[in-house]
Amino acid sequence: MGESSEHFFSGSCDFAAGAATAEQIPAATLPEVVFAGRSNVGKSSLINAITNRKALARTSRTPGRTQQINFFNIAGRFMLVDMPGYGFARVSKLQKQDWQDMIYSYLRGRESLRCVFVLVDARHGLKDSDREMMKALDECAAPYRIVLTKIDEIKKPAREVLAAAIQDELKKFTAGHPDIYFTSAEKKEGIEALREVIMRVAI
Ligand code: GDP
Repeated sequence: MGESSEHFFSGSCDFAAGAATAEQIPAATLPEVVFAGRSNVGKSSLINAITNRKALARTSRTPGRTQQINFFNIAGRFMLVDMPGYGFARVSKLQKQDWQDMIYSYLRGRESLRCVFVLVDARHGLKDSDREMMKALDECAAPYRIVLTKIDEIKKPAREVLAAAIQDELKKFTAGHPDIYFTSAEKKEGIEALREVIMRVAI
């Protein structure tokens, strides 16, 4: 009680493990908070803003290349999990299947999992690949919350319209939390609010 979220993120922040296959997924040691989203949604930028690091999460410039789930140990308190971006148009069925197998292997029965933040580009709203992700999370009973990214790109009234549309759609999903978060890594908006949610769910 009473700990500031800034303090919560001011300690160490270390790469703990990377998993490119289901076998490489590490055993859970700490509560886990996961970041997922379409490629280019602004996930690396948001993770770096939250942790106040310049390059903790690397931007993924090569679409379709083998990607891994990265685990970062945040001050020994919780694990920040960076999922590979999804939604590439040009991946083979086999690559997509591999990706799904790994994601399901990770999500299923992961008791340490506290919340998956599903990042959605405010300019685009929900895409079918996001809906597939949400369906997978529902199937794994993994709790998630929608975080809008790049809100600096859209005007305030449009934000509310978008959030309402997503909230409406969320009613069809079982594991999604109705609250929507507005963020801009570029303008550092909504970062503190997100840190507070992370702190709340992680400890
Ligand atoms: P990732 O592929 O999901 O990790 O996305 P990145 O963090 O690499 O960002 C993808 C692109 O979106 C880059 O060109 C970023 O500069 C841009 N971007 C990321 N965050 C923001 C933001 O808050 N506002 C705006 N306008 N652009 C952003």
